[in-house]
Amino acid sequence: MAKKIVKRSWAEPFKIKVVEPIKMTTRAFREKAIKEAGYNTFLLRSEDVYIDLLTDSGTNAMSDNQWAGMMIGDEAYAGSRSFYTLWDKVKKYYGMPYFVPTHQGRAAEHLVSKILIKPGDYIAGNMYFTTTRLHQELAGATFVDIIIDEAHDPQNHHQFKGNIDINKLDKLVKEVGAKKIPYISVAGPVNMAGGQPISMKNISELSAYCRKAGIKMWFDATRAVENAYFVKEREAGYADKTIAEILKEMLVPFDGIWVSAKKDLMVNIGGFLATRNKKVFDEAKNLCVVYEGLHTYGGLAGRDMEAMARGIEEMVEYDTIKARIGQVEYCGLKLMQYGIPIVEPIGGHAVFLDAKKFLPHLKQIQFPAQTLSAEIYVDSGVRGMERGIVSAGRNIKTGDHNYPKLELVRLTFPRRVYTQAHIDVTVESIAQLYEDRKKIRGLKMVYEPKYLRFFQGRFEKL
Ligand SMILES: *Cc1c(COP(=O)(O)O)cnc(C)c1O
Repeated sequence: MAKKIVKRSWAEPFKIKVVEPIKMTTRAFREKAIKEAGYNTFLLRSEDVYIDLLTDSGTNAMSDNQWAGMMIGDEAYAGSRSFYTLWDKVKKYYGMPYFVPTHQGRAAEHLVSKILIKPGDYIAGNMYFTTTRLHQELAGATFVDIIIDEAHDPQNHHQFKGNIDINKLDKLVKEVGAKKIPYISVAGPVNMAGGQPISMKNISELSAYCRKAGIKMWFDATRAVENAYFVKEREAGYADKTIAEILKEMLVPFDGIWVSAKKDLMVNIGGFLATRNKKVFDEAKNLCVVYEGLHTYGGLAGRDMEAMARGIEEMVEYDTIKARIGQVEYCGLKLMQYGIPIVEPIGGHAVFLDAKKFLPHLKQIQFPAQTLSAEIYVDSGVRGMERGIVSAGRNIKTGDHNYPKLELVRLTFPRRVYTQAHIDVTVESIAQLYEDRKKIRGLKMVYEPKYLRFFQGRFEKL
Protein backbone atom coordinates (compact mmCIF):
# COMPACT_ATOMS: atom_id res chain seq x y z
CA MET A 1 0.00 0.00 0.00
CA ALA A 2 1.25 3.48 -0.78
CA LYS A 3 2.59 5.40 2.22
CA LYS A 4 0.50 8.33 3.43
CA ILE A 5 2.05 11.71 4.16
CA VAL A 6 1.81 12.27 7.91
CA LYS A 7 3.89 15.38 8.30
CA ARG A 8 5.59 17.57 5.70
CA SER A 9 9.38 17.94 6.11
CA TRP A 10 11.30 21.17 6.03
CA ALA A 11 14.78 21.55 4.56
CA GLU A 12 17.62 24.04 4.74
CA PRO A 13 17.18 27.40 2.97
CA PHE A 14 20.48 26.96 1.09
CA LYS A 15 22.29 24.58 -1.25
CA ILE A 16 25.95 23.51 -1.17
CA LYS A 17 28.40 25.24 -3.50
CA VAL A 18 31.80 24.21 -2.06
CA VAL A 19 32.66 20.95 -0.27
CA GLU A 20 35.50 19.98 2.05
CA PRO A 21 36.47 16.29 1.95
CA ILE A 22 36.86 14.53 5.31
CA LYS A 23 39.15 11.62 6.18
CA MET A 24 37.68 8.21 6.94
CA THR A 25 39.54 6.31 9.70
CA THR A 26 39.49 2.83 11.27
CA ARG A 27 38.63 1.92 14.84
CA ALA A 28 42.24 0.86 15.51
CA PHE A 29 43.44 4.25 14.26
CA ARG A 30 41.00 6.09 16.51
CA GLU A 31 41.90 4.01 19.59
CA LYS A 32 45.50 5.10 19.16
CA ALA A 33 44.58 8.70 18.42
CA ILE A 34 42.40 9.17 21.52
CA LYS A 35 45.03 7.56 23.77
CA GLU A 36 47.64 9.96 22.42
CA ALA A 37 45.20 12.81 23.03
CA GLY A 38 44.95 11.89 26.73
CA TYR A 39 41.28 10.89 26.23
CA ASN A 40 40.49 14.56 25.74
CA THR A 41 38.63 15.28 22.50
CA PHE A 42 40.01 18.85 22.56
CA LEU A 43 43.49 17.38 22.01
CA LEU A 44 42.62 15.36 18.90
CA ARG A 45 43.79 16.60 15.52
CA SER A 46 40.78 17.74 13.54
CA GLU A 47 41.94 15.82 10.47
CA ASP A 48 41.49 12.61 12.51
CA VAL A 49 37.84 13.49 13.18
CA TYR A 50 35.02 12.39 10.89
CA ILE A 51 32.04 14.42 12.12
CA ASP A 52 33.13 17.29 14.32
CA LEU A 53 30.50 18.21 16.90
CA LEU A 54 33.01 19.57 19.41
CA THR A 55 31.66 23.09 19.18
CA ASP A 56 29.66 25.46 17.06
CA SER A 57 32.17 28.19 17.85
CA GLY A 58 33.71 29.59 14.69
CA THR A 59 33.05 26.33 12.86
CA ASN A 60 30.20 27.69 10.76
CA ALA A 61 29.95 27.68 6.97
CA MET A 62 29.79 31.24 5.69
CA SER A 63 27.42 32.17 2.88
CA ASP A 64 28.53 33.24 -0.60
CA ASN A 65 27.50 36.74 0.40
CA GLN A 66 29.79 36.66 3.45
CA TRP A 67 32.67 35.34 1.35
CA ALA A 68 32.05 38.11 -1.17
CA GLY A 69 32.27 40.55 1.75
CA MET A 70 35.70 39.15 2.66
CA MET A 71 37.03 40.45 -0.66
CA ILE A 72 35.91 43.99 -0.05
CA GLY A 73 36.97 44.26 3.61
CA ASP A 74 38.75 47.55 4.28
CA GLU A 75 42.07 46.69 5.95
CA ALA A 76 42.89 50.21 7.11
CA TYR A 77 44.47 50.33 10.58
CA ALA A 78 42.26 53.25 11.60
CA GLY A 79 38.68 54.09 10.64
CA SER A 80 38.05 51.07 8.39
CA ARG A 81 34.87 51.26 6.31
CA SER A 82 34.09 47.67 7.39
CA PHE A 83 34.12 48.83 11.04
CA TYR A 84 31.45 51.43 10.29
CA THR A 85 29.39 48.94 8.26
CA LEU A 86 29.43 46.56 11.20
CA TRP A 87 28.66 49.29 13.75
CA ASP A 88 25.57 50.24 11.74
CA LYS A 89 24.30 46.65 11.83
CA VAL A 90 24.95 46.37 15.57
CA LYS A 91 22.94 49.55 16.17
CA LYS A 92 20.13 48.40 13.88
CA TYR A 93 19.71 44.84 15.17
CA TYR A 94 20.95 44.89 18.80
CA GLY A 95 19.69 48.42 19.41
CA MET A 96 22.81 49.60 21.27
CA PRO A 97 24.41 52.89 20.23
CA TYR A 98 28.03 52.18 21.24
CA PHE A 99 30.17 49.36 19.92
CA VAL A 100 33.74 48.02 20.35
CA PRO A 101 34.95 45.08 18.23
CA THR A 102 37.14 42.40 19.86
CA HIS A 103 38.92 39.36 18.47
CA GLN A 104 36.38 37.03 20.08
CA GLY A 105 33.79 36.84 22.84
CA ARG A 106 36.07 36.32 25.83
CA ALA A 107 38.02 39.42 24.91
CA ALA A 108 34.82 41.43 25.25
CA GLU A 109 34.16 39.65 28.57
CA HIS A 110 37.63 40.61 29.69
CA LEU A 111 37.04 44.31 28.96
CA VAL A 112 33.56 44.38 30.51
CA SER A 113 34.75 42.56 33.66
CA LYS A 114 37.76 44.85 34.07
CA ILE A 115 35.64 47.98 33.71
CA LEU A 116 32.66 47.06 35.87
CA ILE A 117 34.02 44.79 38.63
CA LYS A 118 35.93 45.78 41.78
CA PRO A 119 37.64 43.16 44.00
CA GLY A 120 35.13 41.91 46.57
CA ASP A 121 32.13 42.36 44.28
CA TYR A 122 29.51 39.70 43.53
CA ILE A 123 28.23 38.76 40.10
CA ALA A 124 24.92 36.93 39.96
CA GLY A 125 24.04 35.05 36.79
CA ASN A 126 21.86 32.33 35.27
CA MET A 127 24.22 29.38 35.73
CA TYR A 128 27.60 30.36 34.34
CA PHE A 129 29.70 30.17 31.21
CA THR A 130 33.32 29.00 31.52
CA THR A 131 35.15 32.02 30.10
CA THR A 132 32.58 34.53 31.39
CA ARG A 133 32.84 33.40 34.99
CA LEU A 134 36.62 33.14 34.85
CA HIS A 135 37.00 36.75 33.69
CA GLN A 136 34.58 37.88 36.38
CA GLU A 137 36.59 35.98 39.00
CA LEU A 138 39.93 37.23 37.70
CA ALA A 139 38.55 40.77 38.07
CA GLY A 140 37.94 39.99 41.75
CA ALA A 141 34.27 38.98 41.84
CA THR A 142 32.58 35.99 43.45
CA PHE A 143 30.11 34.38 41.07
CA VAL A 144 26.68 33.36 42.40
CA ASP A 145 24.37 31.13 40.37
CA ILE A 146 20.75 32.37 40.51
CA ILE A 147 19.20 30.20 37.79
CA ILE A 148 15.90 28.44 38.63
CA ASP A 149 16.29 24.99 40.25
CA GLU A 150 14.62 23.31 37.25
CA ALA A 151 17.75 24.07 35.19
CA HIS A 152 19.76 21.57 37.23
CA ASP A 153 17.38 18.72 36.46
CA PRO A 154 18.02 17.26 32.99
CA GLN A 155 14.58 15.61 32.87
CA ASN A 156 12.55 18.66 33.84
CA HIS A 157 10.48 19.92 30.89
CA HIS A 158 10.25 23.58 31.89
CA GLN A 159 10.12 25.56 28.61
CA PHE A 160 12.45 28.30 29.91
CA LYS A 161 15.07 26.59 32.01
CA GLY A 162 17.36 29.58 31.51
CA ASN A 163 15.12 31.72 33.73
CA ILE A 164 16.42 33.50 36.79
CA ASP A 165 15.03 32.85 40.26
CA ILE A 166 14.46 36.36 41.53
CA ASN A 167 14.16 35.08 45.12
CA LYS A 168 17.74 33.80 44.87
CA LEU A 169 18.82 37.22 43.65
CA ASP A 170 16.89 38.93 46.43
CA LYS A 171 18.58 36.69 48.99
CA LEU A 172 22.00 37.68 47.67
CA VAL A 173 21.08 41.37 47.64
CA LYS A 174 19.97 41.12 51.28
CA GLU A 175 23.20 39.32 52.21
CA VAL A 176 25.81 41.47 50.48
CA GLY A 177 23.95 44.65 49.49
CA ALA A 178 23.14 45.93 46.01
CA LYS A 179 26.26 48.12 45.98
CA LYS A 180 28.44 45.01 45.85
CA ILE A 181 26.66 43.75 42.72
CA PRO A 182 27.84 45.81 39.75
CA TYR A 183 25.61 43.98 37.28
CA ILE A 184 23.56 40.83 36.74
CA SER A 185 25.18 38.56 34.16
CA VAL A 186 22.34 37.19 32.05
CA ALA A 187 22.73 34.71 29.20
CA GLY A 188 20.23 33.21 26.81
CA PRO A 189 20.07 30.41 25.93
CA VAL A 190 22.16 29.07 28.81
CA ASN A 191 24.85 26.90 27.31
CA MET A 192 25.80 25.00 30.49
CA ALA A 193 22.15 24.19 31.27
CA GLY A 194 21.81 22.49 27.89
CA GLY A 195 21.09 25.45 25.61
CA GLN A 196 17.96 26.46 27.54
CA PRO A 197 16.29 29.83 26.86
CA ILE A 198 15.23 32.65 29.15
CA SER A 199 11.73 34.09 28.69
CA MET A 200 10.82 37.69 27.95
CA LYS A 201 8.56 37.61 30.99
CA ASN A 202 11.46 36.62 33.23
CA ILE A 203 13.71 39.32 31.75
CA SER A 204 11.04 41.90 32.36
CA GLU A 205 10.47 40.78 35.99
CA LEU A 206 14.21 40.82 36.55
CA SER A 207 14.42 44.27 35.06
CA ALA A 208 11.68 45.57 37.39
CA TYR A 209 13.58 44.16 40.37
CA CYS A 210 16.94 45.52 39.23
CA ARG A 211 15.58 49.00 38.51
CA LYS A 212 14.22 49.18 42.06
CA ALA A 213 17.42 47.82 43.57
CA GLY A 214 19.62 50.05 41.40
CA ILE A 215 21.50 47.13 39.80
CA LYS A 216 22.53 47.13 36.14
CA MET A 217 21.97 44.22 33.77
CA TRP A 218 24.35 42.95 31.09
CA PHE A 219 23.52 40.26 28.58
CA ASP A 220 25.74 37.61 27.03
CA ALA A 221 24.13 37.98 23.59
CA THR A 222 26.32 35.35 21.93
CA ARG A 223 23.27 33.17 21.22
CA ALA A 224 20.58 35.80 21.53
CA VAL A 225 19.06 34.90 18.15
CA GLU A 226 18.56 31.30 19.30
CA ASN A 227 16.86 32.69 22.40
CA ALA A 228 14.64 34.91 20.23
CA TYR A 229 13.62 31.85 18.18
CA PHE A 230 12.55 29.95 21.32
CA VAL A 231 10.60 32.99 22.51
CA LYS A 232 8.79 33.12 19.17
CA GLU A 233 8.00 29.39 19.30
CA ARG A 234 7.12 29.07 22.98
CA GLU A 235 6.11 32.32 24.63
CA ALA A 236 2.59 33.73 24.42
CA GLY A 237 2.33 36.91 22.39
CA TYR A 238 5.45 36.47 20.26
CA ALA A 239 4.38 34.10 17.46
CA ASP A 240 3.70 36.94 15.03
CA LYS A 241 6.80 38.98 15.76
CA THR A 242 9.92 38.66 13.62
CA ILE A 243 13.18 37.35 15.05
CA ALA A 244 14.67 40.81 14.59
CA GLU A 245 11.84 42.44 16.54
CA ILE A 246 12.15 39.97 19.40
CA LEU A 247 15.94 40.33 19.52
CA LYS A 248 15.73 44.08 19.88
CA GLU A 249 12.92 44.00 22.44
CA MET A 250 14.80 41.39 24.49
CA LEU A 251 17.81 43.66 24.89
CA VAL A 252 15.98 46.84 25.87
CA PRO A 253 16.45 46.40 29.65
CA PHE A 254 20.19 45.81 29.38
CA ASP A 255 22.95 48.34 29.86
CA GLY A 256 25.17 46.42 27.49
CA ILE A 257 26.03 43.13 25.85
CA TRP A 258 29.07 41.08 25.00
CA VAL A 259 29.00 38.76 22.02
CA SER A 260 31.06 35.97 20.53
CA ALA A 261 30.40 36.44 16.81
CA LYS A 262 31.58 32.86 16.27
CA LYS A 263 28.06 31.63 17.08
CA ASP A 264 24.91 33.51 15.92
CA LEU A 265 26.78 35.60 13.35
CA MET A 266 28.00 32.54 11.42
CA VAL A 267 31.61 33.64 10.99
CA ASN A 268 34.87 31.91 11.91
CA ILE A 269 36.28 34.57 14.24
CA GLY A 270 35.13 37.76 15.93
CA GLY A 271 33.37 39.31 18.88
CA PHE A 272 32.28 42.65 20.25
CA LEU A 273 30.74 44.53 23.09
CA ALA A 274 27.97 47.06 22.71
CA THR A 275 26.40 49.33 25.28
CA ARG A 276 24.06 52.23 25.95
CA ASN A 277 26.50 53.56 28.54
CA LYS A 278 28.83 56.24 27.13
CA LYS A 279 31.21 56.03 30.09
CA VAL A 280 31.66 52.27 29.77
CA PHE A 281 32.08 52.73 26.02
CA ASP A 282 34.89 55.27 26.47
CA GLU A 283 36.71 53.01 28.92
CA ALA A 284 36.22 49.96 26.70
CA LYS A 285 37.59 51.81 23.68
CA ASN A 286 40.63 52.73 25.72
CA LEU A 287 41.24 49.23 27.13
CA CYS A 288 40.70 47.82 23.64
CA VAL A 289 43.87 49.58 22.49
CA VAL A 290 45.80 47.91 25.31
CA TYR A 291 44.57 44.34 24.85
CA GLU A 292 43.08 43.99 21.36
CA GLY A 293 44.15 46.70 18.93
CA LEU A 294 42.80 50.07 17.88
CA HIS A 295 39.07 50.39 18.65
CA THR A 296 38.16 50.39 14.95
CA TYR A 297 39.44 46.84 14.43
CA GLY A 298 39.78 45.27 17.91
CA GLY A 299 42.08 42.43 16.86
CA LEU A 300 40.10 41.63 13.72
CA ALA A 301 40.87 42.01 10.04
CA GLY A 302 38.60 44.38 8.11
CA ARG A 303 37.30 41.39 6.15
CA ASP A 304 36.24 39.67 9.39
CA MET A 305 34.15 42.70 10.32
CA GLU A 306 32.60 42.73 6.84
CA ALA A 307 31.64 39.04 7.18
CA MET A 308 30.19 39.72 10.65
CA ALA A 309 28.07 42.59 9.31
CA ARG A 310 26.61 40.30 6.64
CA GLY A 311 26.20 37.49 9.18
CA ILE A 312 24.01 39.75 11.33
CA GLU A 313 21.57 40.23 8.43
CA GLU A 314 21.47 36.46 7.80
CA MET A 315 21.16 35.37 11.44
CA VAL A 316 17.79 37.08 11.89
CA GLU A 317 16.21 35.37 8.86
CA TYR A 318 13.53 33.07 10.21
CA ASP A 319 14.27 30.13 7.89
CA THR A 320 17.96 30.23 8.72
CA ILE A 321 17.50 29.99 12.49
CA LYS A 322 14.64 27.49 12.10
CA ALA A 323 16.88 25.15 10.07
CA ARG A 324 19.68 25.56 12.59
CA ILE A 325 17.60 24.68 15.63
CA GLY A 326 15.54 22.16 13.61
CA GLN A 327 18.68 20.15 12.93
CA VAL A 328 19.53 19.97 16.62
CA GLU A 329 15.96 18.89 17.35
CA TYR A 330 16.11 16.19 14.67
CA CYS A 331 19.18 14.69 16.35
CA GLY A 332 17.67 14.88 19.84
CA LEU A 333 14.37 13.28 18.86
CA LYS A 334 16.17 10.47 17.08
CA LEU A 335 18.36 9.74 20.13
CA MET A 336 15.23 9.62 22.28
CA GLN A 337 13.73 7.02 19.96
CA TYR A 338 16.62 4.74 21.00
CA GLY A 339 15.89 5.46 24.67
CA ILE A 340 19.13 7.40 25.13
CA PRO A 341 19.01 9.82 28.09
CA ILE A 342 19.41 13.43 26.97
CA VAL A 343 18.70 16.81 28.49
CA GLU A 344 15.15 17.91 27.79
CA PRO A 345 13.79 20.07 26.32
CA ILE A 346 16.29 19.78 23.45
CA GLY A 347 18.49 22.89 23.41
CA GLY A 348 19.24 25.45 20.75
CA HIS A 349 22.78 24.67 19.68
CA ALA A 350 23.46 21.19 20.96
CA VAL A 351 22.12 17.89 22.19
CA PHE A 352 23.40 16.99 25.64
CA LEU A 353 23.74 13.32 26.58
CA ASP A 354 23.14 12.63 30.27
CA ALA A 355 26.35 10.74 31.08
CA LYS A 356 25.31 9.99 34.69
CA LYS A 357 22.31 8.05 33.35
CA PHE A 358 24.20 6.61 30.38
CA LEU A 359 27.03 5.25 32.57
CA PRO A 360 25.45 4.82 36.03
CA HIS A 361 28.20 2.40 37.07
CA LEU A 362 30.82 5.20 36.98
CA LYS A 363 31.32 7.61 39.91
CA GLN A 364 31.51 11.29 38.98
CA ILE A 365 35.21 11.32 39.85
CA GLN A 366 35.72 8.65 37.18
CA PHE A 367 34.66 11.32 34.69
CA PRO A 368 31.62 9.71 33.00
CA ALA A 369 31.12 12.48 30.43
CA GLN A 370 34.82 12.65 29.56
CA THR A 371 34.74 8.85 29.17
CA LEU A 372 31.65 8.84 26.98
CA SER A 373 32.93 11.50 24.61
CA ALA A 374 36.15 9.49 24.13
CA GLU A 375 34.14 6.30 23.50
CA ILE A 376 31.95 7.98 20.87
CA TYR A 377 35.07 9.11 19.03
CA VAL A 378 36.52 5.59 19.08
CA ASP A 379 33.26 4.08 17.81
CA SER A 380 32.62 6.36 14.87
CA GLY A 381 35.05 9.27 14.65
CA VAL A 382 32.36 11.66 15.90
CA ARG A 383 33.78 14.29 18.25
CA GLY A 384 31.72 15.74 21.09
CA MET A 385 32.92 17.27 24.35
CA GLU A 386 32.62 17.03 28.11
CA ARG A 387 30.37 19.39 30.05
CA GLY A 388 30.57 18.04 33.57
CA ILE A 389 33.04 17.78 36.42
CA VAL A 390 36.07 18.53 34.25
CA SER A 391 34.50 21.69 32.78
CA ALA A 392 33.27 22.79 36.22
CA GLY A 393 36.87 23.08 37.46
CA ARG A 394 37.78 23.60 41.09
CA ASN A 395 36.38 25.83 43.77
CA ILE A 396 38.58 28.92 43.70
CA LYS A 397 38.66 29.12 47.54
CA THR A 398 38.80 25.49 48.74
CA GLY A 399 40.60 23.94 45.76
CA ASP A 400 38.18 20.98 45.68
CA HIS A 401 36.56 19.77 42.47
CA ASN A 402 33.23 21.42 41.81
CA TYR A 403 30.72 18.54 41.53
CA PRO A 404 28.04 19.82 39.13
CA LYS A 405 24.65 18.11 39.09
CA LEU A 406 24.85 17.93 35.33
CA GLU A 407 27.39 15.52 33.90
CA LEU A 408 26.90 15.86 30.15
CA VAL A 409 28.40 15.14 26.77
CA ARG A 410 27.68 17.95 24.35
CA LEU A 411 27.13 17.30 20.65
CA THR A 412 27.19 20.74 19.15
CA PHE A 413 26.14 21.56 15.63
CA PRO A 414 28.15 23.96 13.50
CA ARG A 415 25.79 26.11 11.43
CA ARG A 416 25.17 25.07 7.81
CA VAL A 417 27.93 22.40 7.88
CA TYR A 418 26.51 18.88 8.24
CA THR A 419 23.65 17.01 6.58
CA GLN A 420 20.89 14.85 8.00
CA ALA A 421 22.88 11.74 6.96
CA HIS A 422 25.77 12.88 9.19
CA ILE A 423 23.31 13.07 12.05
CA ASP A 424 21.97 9.58 11.35
CA VAL A 425 25.51 8.17 11.51
CA THR A 426 26.12 9.99 14.80
CA VAL A 427 22.91 8.78 16.43
CA GLU A 428 23.47 5.16 15.41
CA SER A 429 26.99 5.21 16.86
CA ILE A 430 25.68 6.46 20.21
CA ALA A 431 22.86 3.90 20.13
CA GLN A 432 25.44 1.14 19.66
CA LEU A 433 27.45 2.36 22.66
CA TYR A 434 24.28 2.56 24.70
CA GLU A 435 23.63 -1.12 24.00
CA ASP A 436 27.19 -1.97 25.07
CA ARG A 437 27.41 0.61 27.89
CA LYS A 438 28.12 -1.84 30.75
CA LYS A 439 31.52 -2.62 29.21
CA ILE A 440 32.70 1.00 29.36
CA ARG A 441 35.42 1.80 31.95
CA GLY A 442 36.10 5.24 33.46
CA LEU A 443 39.16 7.51 33.46
CA LYS A 444 41.62 9.09 35.87
CA MET A 445 43.10 12.57 35.44
CA VAL A 446 46.87 12.56 34.97
CA TYR A 447 47.50 16.19 34.02
CA GLU A 448 45.54 19.21 35.20
CA PRO A 449 46.28 22.73 33.96
CA LYS A 450 45.50 25.64 36.27
CA TYR A 451 42.88 27.40 34.13
CA LEU A 452 39.94 25.97 32.13
CA ARG A 453 41.27 22.44 32.59
CA PHE A 454 38.79 20.84 30.17
CA PHE A 455 40.73 22.28 27.23
CA GLN A 456 44.11 20.71 28.03
CA GLY A 457 43.63 18.15 30.83
CA ARG A 458 44.89 14.61 30.14
CA PHE A 459 43.45 11.27 31.25
CA GLU A 460 44.20 7.53 31.29
CA LYS A 461 41.86 4.54 31.25
CA LEU A 462 41.16 2.94 34.62
C1 LIG B 1 31.47 30.98 23.06
C2 LIG B 1 30.87 31.72 24.14
C3 LIG B 1 31.57 32.71 24.84
C4 LIG B 1 33.05 32.99 24.61
O1 LIG B 1 33.30 33.44 23.33
P1 LIG B 1 34.64 33.11 22.52
O2 LIG B 1 34.42 33.74 21.19
O3 LIG B 1 34.80 31.64 22.46
O4 LIG B 1 35.78 33.76 23.25
C5 LIG B 1 30.88 33.41 25.81
N1 LIG B 1 29.60 33.16 26.10
C6 LIG B 1 28.90 32.21 25.46
C7 LIG B 1 27.47 31.97 25.81
C8 LIG B 1 29.51 31.46 24.46
O5 LIG B 1 28.80 30.51 23.84
